[in-house]
Amino acid sequence: MSDISDKRVNISNDNPSIVFDKSRCDECGICKNICEYNIGVYGYSNLDYPCINCGSCTIMCPNKCLSERDETSKLREYLHSNKIIVMQTAPAVRVSIGEEFGLKPGVNVQGKLVSALRKIGADYVFDTTFGADLTVMEEANELVNRLLDNKKLPMFTSCCPSWVKFCEMFYPEYLDNLSTCRSPISMQGAMINNYFCKVNNIKREDIISIAIVPCTSKKMEILKFDEIDLAITTRELAKYLKEEKINLAKLKNSNYNSLLGKGSGGGIIFGTSGGVMESTLREVYHILNKRYPKGRLLNFKEVRGLSNVKEASITINGNIIKVASINGTGDVRKIIEKIKNGEVYYDFIEVMACEGGCISGGGQPRIYPITNHIKNKRMNALYKSDKKMKIRCASLNPDIKDIYDNFLGEVGSDVAIKYLHTTYVNRKDEK
Ligand code: SF4
Ligand code: SF4
Ligand code: SF4
Repeated sequence: MSDISDKRVNISNDNPSIVFDKSRCDECGICKNICEYNIGVYGYSNLDYPCINCGSCTIMCPNKCLSERDETSKLREYLHSNKIIVMQTAPAVRVSIGEEFGLKPGVNVQGKLVSALRKIGADYVFDTTFGADLTVMEEANELVNRLLDNKKLPMFTSCCPSWVKFCEMFYPEYLDNLSTCRSPISMQGAMINNYFCKVNNIKREDIISIAIVPCTSKKMEILKFDEIDLAITTRELAKYLKEEKINLAKLKNSNYNSLLGKGSGGGIIFGTSGGVMESTLREVYHILNKRYPKGRLLNFKEVRGLSNVKEASITINGNIIKVASINGTGDVRKIIEKIKNGEVYYDFIEVMACEGGCISGGGQPRIYPITNHIKNKRMNALYKSDKKMKIRCASLNPDIKDIYDNFLGEVGSDVAIKYLHTTYVNRKDEK
């Protein structure tokens, strides 16, 4: 008997991100609606199991029969091995994981999170905001080159693997418009393997590299780059800590390790819709004006907030740059149709598959239903952290300067292309 139903989403057994437990499903159809209208996948593909791995259905299923692929036993196995454990934490996890331990939404538990990871056995803990700064360096350079050449515009961001897969599946004619930058965790993963290991005289095979992420889709992404051994979602980490009887809320603060440890304020806001765009434009401003932004681009209100499509226009050194930030791939369809019809024009478009961006990613705490109040609390916590930072632009980060001076060379160099960029495939005809 076929397991395929038209009342719910269909998840294949080999989906690297999501699993489905049929026994508890009452076929209410909530997941199907989310996938069709918010994510724009269900009903748009001939595949039996169309999925971009975003995990939005896992957040919204009232019976918890859709879940992340639980890899906590693999985490336990790795932590009990004799390998060196290197972890990184994505920005959105710090403003949500506290909720699993009774804290209010939006409490930033960055220092407690680092302590928790050390307690379970991490030898090194890095902040993925460093990888986000690398992304900004490469992506801003790419955007400026495209603007000056007036080619491959609009440029789309590429740090959301679900959006990348969506583009590969449904709009391959825009693959040249995707930034070629890898995502922050994958850039950071490559730098752990090829720079951190070299500086510390450690063999790659002696480390286990683990990313703590808000995102089920990263479980798919790490298979592409083979730089990171395990992607663990906020929910999985909370489950593991509870099993280990560690109450994160009660821990003291610890600091990240140095070398790849710190990012700028711009790296922090990658965790929310509009943040990648705002951070990248700060660096575009720096490249074009040879000085750093002071006003609007440190508080770019037009691309902040929870509206599904946000638009703005900004003039930098005489260049008018039209931008849009879209969260929820369902809305990408409408915008791309308008672009094709000539109704709208943009130079730079940020796309995040999940509504609100990674703060409400598919691996975040399951609060049903997740309200805008909760999303706003998490989002505002990231903006507050950015505002408090002395360094808010990627190229002002001294660790970023060091890694270019000592390893990568120039932005966009051959070494940078090798480790920090990627290519895409047309999946339109995949069966
Ligand atoms: S939301 Fe959950 S219970 Fe409802 S149809 Fe989907 S899987 Fe089944
Ligand atoms: S993970 Fe995302 S794309 Fe896949 S079925 Fe769920 S909502 Fe749809
Ligand atoms: S928006 Fe963030 S959490 Fe959601 S799929 Fe994209 S990268 Fe993952």
